[in-house]
Amino acid sequence: MIKHLVAGIRDAALETLYPQECRACGRMVESWKYGISCLACWEEIDRRNAELQICTKCGLPSQRAGATAGDKAFRCRICEDMAFCLARSCGPYEGALRESVLWLKRHPQISGRIREMLNSTFNDLSRSSSGFDAIIPVPLHPVRLKERSFNQSEVIAGALASLTGLRVDRTSLIRAIQTSMHRAGMGIRERARSLDGVFEVRAPRMISGRNLLLVDDVITTGSTAACISAALLDSGASSVSVISIARAMIH
Ligand SMILES: [Zn+2]
Ligand SMILES: [Zn+2]
Repeated sequence: MIKHLVAGIRDAALETLYPQECRACGRMVESWKYGISCLACWEEIDRRNAELQICTKCGLPSQRAGATAGDKAFRCRICEDMAFCLARSCGPYEGALRESVLWLKRHPQISGRIREMLNSTFNDLSRSSSGFDAIIPVPLHPVRLKERSFNQSEVIAGALASLTGLRVDRTSLIRAIQTSMHRAGMGIRERARSLDGVFEVRAPRMISGRNLLLVDDVITTGSTAACISAALLDSGASSVSVISIARAMIH
């Protein structure tokens, strides 16, 4: 009885937190567990994940003409010099996942659906690596953190910590310089150069010898993840892998 009452209150509270209309297609969202999108839009993401190939290192999704379902592995070559071991995302930056990333920038909430996807993406990464010692969210500059009041990568890191029991390290890495939001027109090299000196490891002692999992909301070119990974490895980290909710496609 009390259990039902609690569940009822929880559902009512979550209904006010989450939109009733799917932000991707406008239909009704059937359950609060789906967060900001309806089941059909989530199934569309599942369908896309099944048809896309991803780079075996950086997870870049690609639609390859003539590829068969079993032929999913390829190397993109863009990530050749990127310092991380592996990067994986829950799926492409489109539809329900794109809307979830945008929603998360304003609301510190992770739906049950995203939690499930993070869990299976994490398991996927764990199978191909030697495990992780700590989770590091991509830090925001203090000025931006004040504007937003929370760091969306920390919210994802928190969800991953509760799923995996891993510790979140929120202090060892800082964003020393605030970068412009408008880097969309930049090429990959320009982007990488624009990140010179942006991230600093403040506590190398906490990093040294550790296998780290870097968390971001969306990976675009991979430059940010590569730049942070290089800084962490320079400070003595054993390895860095990356996880994100969504991954942009390169057209
Ligand atoms: Zn929808
Ligand atoms: Zn790649």
